[in-house]
Amino acid sequence: MKDIKIQDYITEVPDFPKQGISFKDITPILNNPPVFHQVVDEMARFTKSTGANIIVAPEARGFIFAAPVAYATNIALVLIRKAGKLPRATIKKEYDLEYGKATLEMHKGDIKPGDKVVIIDDVLATGGTLEAIIEMVEAQGAKVVGLSVLADLTFLHDDKIIANRQYQSLVNY
Ligand code: 5GP
Repeated sequence: MKDIKIQDYITEVPDFPKQGISFKDITPILNNPPVFHQVVDEMARFTKSTGANIIVAPEARGFIFAAPVAYATNIALVLIRKAGKLPRATIKKEYDLEYGKATLEMHKGDIKPGDKVVIIDDVLATGGTLEAIIEMVEAQGAKVVGLSVLADLTFLHDDKIIANRQYQSLVNY
């Protein structure tokens, strides 16, 4: 089979969700099983190489990639959700959006001091989401040993977020 170019399965949608934003639609990857396999395999290889014992992923698209990576690597998966979705006691983190604020939550006790965490998401844009998750994880005494994203919109963030960490992005814009 010829080499798969993952970027060919990410569609750029102009002016979505609003004027001036070029949204990266990753759903064609999910519609093409060999491509989805390749993405999950590469993320799993990276995740294993970090020595992490926990994978953390935010809803909604982070779940799509993190769950098969957790299955393939046999590493525990911890979910991050938007406010009000998780049923038990949570740890919360408010973070800035372009306009306004949002809150992320994870269940209390899912992460313990000394845990080594890899965060998986579909897209790194401004870095606000990853930064908020890193703060939540590290506030619990765990260490973020790696970040893995499918696509990095490099022009939207500085390198601070990925500096001094093991980092994987499969496609760069
Ligand atoms: P950030 O917090 O880095 O600005 O945005 C990253 C989060 O927003 C990720 O969880 C990602 O799912 C979502 N996101 C932002 N821009 C895009 C995009 O162009 N395509 C997709 N699929 N997700 C995006």
